Amino acid sequence: MARYTESVCVLCRREGLKLYLKGERCYTPKCPIERRNYPPGQHGQGRKRVTDYGQHLREKQKLRRIYGVMERQFRRYYEKAARHRGITGVALLQMLEMRLDNIVYRLGFGSSRAQARQLVSHGHIAVNGRKVDIPSYQVKPGDVISVREGSRDLDIIKQNLEAAASRGTPAWLELNAEQYQGRVLAVPAREQITDVPVQESLIVEFYSR
Ligand code: SF4
Repeated sequence: MARYTESVCVLCRREGLKLYLKGERCYTPKCPIERRNYPPGQHGQGRKRVTDYGQHLREKQKLRRIYGVMERQFRRYYEKAARHRGITGVALLQMLEMRLDNIVYRLGFGSSRAQARQLVSHGHIAVNGRKVDIPSYQVKPGDVISVREGSRDLDIIKQNLEAAASRGTPAWLELNAEQYQGRVLAVPAREQITDVPVQESLIVEFYSR
């Protein structure tokens, strides 16, 4: 599976905002964007003019990076969203939110989407009691996501659940931390996806050019 190999903090600095790619470190003053909120590179502080195309491109890259999806797969999400009845940009966001790795992150089993993706691909997660090791697996309302029996002693999952408790669980999910499981109550509405600061209409325009 293709993945980013460079420092993920560079991606946040490129977009000029926190994308929360590094787990707990993102919530501490150690987050590099707190100190250097300008694009990386020699001319980072000098770049100012953004073209119309550049603005559309940045929105697309931002969303792609938040969910850690590579370009080809992201385009496939867009194409599927475009065939969807309703608002394409919202459908795109909803498909990304319903990825299994995102749900594992939202429930607090993983400290970041990247770590959640690893938990899934290493076989620690089950959907409705059956192991699923495909991070992009589309979860449906009513599905029960759990940490598999043999993986419940993993310190990392316990620590993540403790740390995530203060941040709470989104209203469209239900978490039972003692049972290491959660249920998807509904597909989230756009206004429930509050921590994804993108203008999805610009992404739709980017692909419809
Ligand atoms: Fe790095 Fe997280 Fe800060 Fe982004 S939000 S710069 S990933 S520490």
